Amino acid sequence: MAKYKTDLRDVFFNLFENLKVQDHMVDYGENDLKDIISQFDKFAENEIYTCRVEGDEVGVKLTKDKGVVVPPSFQKAKEQYYQNGWFALGYPEDIGGMPAPHSINFACNSIYVGANVAFSMYSGLSQGAMNVIIQAGSQELKDKFVPSMMEGRWGGTMCLTEPGAGSDVGASKATATPNGDGTFNIKGVKIFISSGESDLYENNIHLVLARTPGSEEGTKGLSLFIVPRFEINDDLSNGAFNNVACTKIEEKMGIHGSATCELTFGGQGDCKGQLIGKEHEGIVNMFIMMNEARLLCGIQGESQANLAYQLTEQYAKERSQFGKEIVHLPDVKRMLLKMRAMSRGMRSLILYTSNLFDLEKKGDHLAEKELALLTPVCKAYCTDEGFQVCVDAIQVHGGYGYCSEYGIEQFARDTKIATIYEGTNGIQAMDFVMRKILKDGGETFKALGEKILASLGNSSAGQWKAESAMLAVSMQKAQSILENYGKKAGEKSYDAVLASSTDFLSYCGNLIVAWRLLDGAIMASESIGSASDEDKRYYESKIVDFKIFCQHYLSRNNGIAQSILNFEQDWTKVEV
Ligand SMILES: Cc1cc2nc3c(=O)[nH]c(=O)nc-3n(C[C@H](O)[C@H](O)[C@H](O)COP(=O)(O)OP(=O)(O)OC[C@H]3O[C@@H](n4cnc5c(N)ncnc54)[C@H](O)[C@@H]3O)c2cc1C
Repeated sequence: MAKYKTDLRDVFFNLFENLKVQDHMVDYGENDLKDIISQFDKFAENEIYTCRVEGDEVGVKLTKDKGVVVPPSFQKAKEQYYQNGWFALGYPEDIGGMPAPHSINFACNSIYVGANVAFSMYSGLSQGAMNVIIQAGSQELKDKFVPSMMEGRWGGTMCLTEPGAGSDVGASKATATPNGDGTFNIKGVKIFISSGESDLYENNIHLVLARTPGSEEGTKGLSLFIVPRFEINDDLSNGAFNNVACTKIEEKMGIHGSATCELTFGGQGDCKGQLIGKEHEGIVNMFIMMNEARLLCGIQGESQANLAYQLTEQYAKERSQFGKEIVHLPDVKRMLLKMRAMSRGMRSLILYTSNLFDLEKKGDHLAEKELALLTPVCKAYCTDEGFQVCVDAIQVHGGYGYCSEYGIEQFARDTKIATIYEGTNGIQAMDFVMRKILKDGGETFKALGEKILASLGNSSAGQWKAESAMLAVSMQKAQSILENYGKKAGEKSYDAVLASSTDFLSYCGNLIVAWRLLDGAIMASESIGSASDEDKRYYESKIVDFKIFCQHYLSRNNGIAQSILNFEQDWTKVEV
């Protein structure tokens, strides 16, 4: 049976050879940072990955006496996760954290989510909710909520979705009526709430979008409230039940260990909440959490693909047919090389993006804009392509992949949801084209293009003539598509732009990942001369990744560009 494995060599190459993230840190050296990641990887292997299959098989249950019960193995894993200080990674010391560059945090998160998506969602949502309180909450709210969330006594959630308000968050109907003492009565039903209730935490802290009396319609009328499941006493112990009831639990295709709950607020009595930030600024404050969650979704696609690839490579080296291991059969080799190029390519995109947080913190204004531009690409591209890699993993396993014995089909089931939640990939594509490109006049996209051209201008890139030329043509055609979009937008033909925005996001994903792999290949070819035998093999594989990616993925951009530029896009007058 294939064993859990993280390609730490590739993680370290991206972080320390390519991005040089160690330069952001004064307190830790490169070896300290590598040590953190290696230790976390061991922890993930022994404590988190080990409950992945049980989480899938046992799932969560809504019980009469204990509320929502998680798979038993999750309890120990959670204790270990918090006790070992992993929840605190990346937070400042004054709130009990262990500071680390964002990129180190992302690398650990990728290992974490890769090992067990369902389990990682409990603490992931808790961190997201806590970050909103830290960034937008008053000192009173920070003092009341942050310490117990850091300790792991309380877990957080994100409550936007309602039966009639999915992608259209502005259609939310939940209400918040002021009580005159600074608190509000919250009433409404939120659905599909991840970690909505569970016996992992003593209390669930919900961040809820709701509408105060007289508020305008749409997202501008929404405010954000913090609503605990149990009221909180002055000594921070649990008080009375606050009338937040889990009224249903969803049966799902995957992530069975994650509790997806329907929550009814104020169904049988008063449910009190406090405002976070200003009234009517709910959606802005919720976006603190949503932007992070979108990147975490991207990590979900990337990390599931990478782990599925590692297990599949081992399987293909062990399984024999026609007298040889299947890894030697041309079609299987093709699948494996494609899976590796895509998985490592997505990793390099995710880690590149994580480094932008650290550059932004240092005052790099372009990094902030690039981060905003790349967030929907990480979310949508890595989840679509990550799912596809997981499907390929099933194919390489043959019948054993379709059956549950090897735990491979679980990767595809657990990954699919990431294309849907945190704003479907269709919504991401609209955000990418309309807000992140057209709204800023294409400036940030152009600046990114200049970086791509600079890599192409590197003398080492010349050794891969066909691939580099393909990347250069892809860049030019992206500009033609954008000019075309600009023209359509000028004519107010927005539907013609929106109809192909998913294709264009996919196009740009291919382009940007090819560039990240080119950067890796350049660095690998420059380091190969003085490398040890083991390193030489690794560097050669980085060059192969770039070439394979161009041949199998970047080459698709010709067809996508042709479809966007040469064919009608506005099909609104045609009936489905
Ligand atoms: C397992 C799971 C966990 C979840 N966790 C949470 C959570 O913790 N908190 C939370 O608040 N929500 C959560 N959700 C809800 C999730 O975010 C929504 O399902 C998602 O936003 C889509 O909404 P919808 O399901 O109503 O689909 P719809 O909005 O009905 O979308 C259906 C289709 O129409 C498309 N579409 C809709 N509007 C447009 C548009 N304007 N332009 C183009 N295409 C469009 C979509 O892309 C999609 O393909 C979760 C959902 C699931 C299944």
